[in-house]
Amino acid sequence: MEDNASVEDDYEDSVTIQSDPFDSFASFRGYTEEKRQLHETVIEPAGYDRYVTTSVLLLGDHADCQTTTLAKGTTGELGTEYTFFHVDSFHGELMGEGNNIETTLEAARTREPSLILLTCLDEHGFGEDEYELLRRQIESIQQNHERVTMVCTAQDQDVDLTTHDSVFEVIIEVPKPGEPFRRGTLNTELERAERAGVIESTELDGEALSELDIADLTLQELRTVIKRTVQRRRRTSDEAKPTITPSHIQNSISIVQTEKLEEATGMSLFGEDDPDQFEPEIPSVTFDDIGGLTREKQRLREAVTKPVEYSDTFQQAGYSVGQGILLHGPPGNGKTMLAKAVANDLEYHFLSVKGPELEQPLVGVSEDHLRELFQTAREHTPSVIFFDEFDSLAPSRQNDTPVWKDDLVNTLLSELDGLEPLADVIVMAATNRVDELDDAVVRSGRFDTFIEIPSPSLEEQVEIFAVHIDNLPTTEGVTPAWFSSLRLSDLSGADIMAVCRKALEFAVRDFDTGSAEQLVVTQANVQAALDRLRSEQQDTRWSRGYQ
Ligand code: ATP
Repeated sequence: MEDNASVEDDYEDSVTIQSDPFDSFASFRGYTEEKRQLHETVIEPAGYDRYVTTSVLLLGDHADCQTTTLAKGTTGELGTEYTFFHVDSFHGELMGEGNNIETTLEAARTREPSLILLTCLDEHGFGEDEYELLRRQIESIQQNHERVTMVCTAQDQDVDLTTHDSVFEVIIEVPKPGEPFRRGTLNTELERAERAGVIESTELDGEALSELDIADLTLQELRTVIKRTVQRRRRTSDEAKPTITPSHIQNSISIVQTEKLEEATGMSLFGEDDPDQFEPEIPSVTFDDIGGLTREKQRLREAVTKPVEYSDTFQQAGYSVGQGILLHGPPGNGKTMLAKAVANDLEYHFLSVKGPELEQPLVGVSEDHLRELFQTAREHTPSVIFFDEFDSLAPSRQNDTPVWKDDLVNTLLSELDGLEPLADVIVMAATNRVDELDDAVVRSGRFDTFIEIPSPSLEEQVEIFAVHIDNLPTTEGVTPAWFSSLRLSDLSGADIMAVCRKALEFAVRDFDTGSAEQLVVTQANVQAALDRLRSEQQDTRWSRGYQ
């Protein structure tokens, strides 16, 4: 047998020797069954010279399967006694010139015990000859009782198992990651950032995880979401190790989803807004963009728009105008849109902040941000300040309320009381938990106009659909009447928006050639988007029990 150094020299150019094992199975959650199978078939027998498994295929049924992560995890489990060879799609053609796979196999056989990772088998253009070569090599390894194992990964549509299953001693099917695993990736990545010492310890509980809208993001994109969140928080927060809330993560999710869609269509579909910017502007949302909610729009006009028209009279009588309007009701039914429409209608600047964004347990920081917000509103009059998720900014105070939150509520009270009774700063807020607000904040003279924004009736759902398809290129069949004939129930406005957006994504996915103007959304696209929403809603309900 040649000595190891000369083997390494010989193969240096054509073979990648992965000197250290990758991370072990503990480095990622889920896939318990597949890890167990790998343990049973590869890792445990590795200790016995004669019973080593020579070839394993990890066969994924979806591009997002974690076959490579599992294959790499296997190296981590085997430990340093092994020599690892990694051949992936980035190392060029395996076959043909240089005959890379054969060279790698020979190198591995001279350095046993060894393990070859051949990831993305399907991307190497494996044909009959290549499988034949593998089969011969594997037979020879088995006959000589060499401790060489080959772990390959592929997707099932690319491997013909009827002719090639004899090449692989063990085939482990790897399903698409389930919803709990996908959502759990966010916590895994947060943990990684925490271990690196760049954020405060943060773990999202089952409920927070289930509420994040991660539809259609791959695991890689979910990792990007956390990376972007951490980078943004480190840029914008004063804390040495910033805290991360679900709403920070949801922000990054929206950005990544939008970028993804824009990349797929080549169009700037959702405007150029930089969500990091805090520049007051007059929103473009109008009351006509809001489907249904006829009574609620009317009440808002009575409570805000009309009094502003007659602000002199109100002022002479010493009453404030349009201050303290609280919109409450289940999520995703247009509270934010209504607040924007008020600002649009009056041609007022709009400044909004989500309650959790003001949660900074460093002394004084949150209060400063809140004061700055009112100050900016005063500098940009006339303006509307809108507090979303108001319950987290002004929760009812108990004995165990942290001091910084108490201070924040007091600052809010003094800012509200300090506003001139003029119509040039209107304060609105929205919450899904109206019962949990601080009594002092919702007393008369502060937030005292409550408008409930309920879930849409069936008729209103159709009106919301009509508003959304108005912006989409559709085939003739995609009409409000058709949507109404589906007799759907339980859809929020945000659900309907998500369905229309998803239908557009499906249309883009199925659109092969032609210019962007020829793209149309069909009934089938909408139906598929509805099915997707339903299955995601079910998954989400199920994953509420996650962890
Ligand atoms: P949350 O309580 O979660 O903050 P919200 O009640 O403020 O939700 P919005 O943010 O206004 O809900 O709505 C989310 C999205 O859902 C909107 O951007 C819009 O696309 C869509 N939507 C909701 N309600 C309507 C509606 N009545 N008409 C048209 N679109 C709607």
